[in-house]
Amino acid sequence: MNKNDFTRKMTVREFFKRFPDDAACLEHIMTVRFGHRHTCGKCGVVDATFHRLEGRKAYSCAHCGDNLYPCAGTVFEKSSTPLTVWFYAIFLFVSTRHGVSGMELHRQLGVTRKCAYRMGMQIRKLMNNADYQEMLGGIEQQVEIDEAYMGGRRAGKAGRGAAGKTVVMGMRERNGYIRCKVIPDASQKSLRGVFQENIAPGTVISTDEWRGYSLVIGDGHKHGTVCHGRGEYVKFDDEGYRHDTNGLESFWRLFKASPPAFVDLASTYTYELE
Ligand SMILES: [Zn+2]
Repeated sequence: MNKNDFTRKMTVREFFKRFPDDAACLEHIMTVRFGHRHTCGKCGVVDATFHRLEGRKAYSCAHCGDNLYPCAGTVFEKSSTPLTVWFYAIFLFVSTRHGVSGMELHRQLGVTRKCAYRMGMQIRKLMNNADYQEMLGGIEQQVEIDEAYMGGRRAGKAGRGAAGKTVVMGMRERNGYIRCKVIPDASQKSLRGVFQENIAPGTVISTDEWRGYSLVIGDGHKHGTVCHGRGEYVKFDDEGYRHDTNGLESFWRLFKASPPAFVDLASTYTYELE
C-alpha cells in the first residue's frame, strides 16, 4: 500500500464489498472497539475469546458466557435503523466535501425524511466531536502508544527509515478512546510533542520496547514495555498493571483497511487525521 492508497477514498463498490450486511458492520464495530480477544470485564479471563450471538447484536465470552454489546454507547445503540444504512450514511458524509443534506440522505438511503434528518444531525455532531481535543488517560488510567507507518513496513529504528512514509502515532485508552495523529517523522522530538499534547499526567503508559520511549520521562507517568523483538506481547509490572499494545495492533490492521474517518465515526472514537 502506498501513501496514495492510504489517503485515497473508498469507492462505493469497495464500500459494499467491505460492508455487505449488518453482520459485517457489527463485526467491524466489535473489532475496532474491543477486538475478539480481550480481558473479559465479567470473569477477568485475559485474552478471552468472544463469539457472535446468533440473531442479536451481541457477543458472548467463551469462558463465562457474559454478553457484550459492541454498539453500547454509540449512535447505533438505540437505533432501529440497520447498521448497513448507518454505515452507508457515514460513508456519504466522509466521501463528500460539501456535506450531505437530510433530503439527500432521505433519497439515497430510502429511509423516511424524519429518520434521515435525525441521522444527519447525529453524524454531523460526531464529526464535530472528532475535532474536539481533550487529554487521554489520567491518574491510574492506562494508555497504549504505538506508531504505524502507512505506505510500507515499520522502520527498524526509532526516528529512522520512515522516508516517504506517513507516520501515525496511535494512543489508545484501555477500554476507551483511540486518537491518531500524523507526525512529520518518528523522531523522539515529534513523538514527545504529540505525547505531551495528548496524554494527561499520571497516566500509565504501555509501549513496545524498541524505541526506548524516553518521551515519558519526567512527566509523572508510569511506564511499562513489552519487547516485541523478543516475542513478548504481554507483561505485568510490579503494581499489577498489564502492559501490551495489542489493542493498537489490531486497530492498525483495520485502520489500513478502512477510510480513516470512517473508523472513527463508526465507533465514535476520537480520531484525528490531518
Ligand atoms: Zn468472561
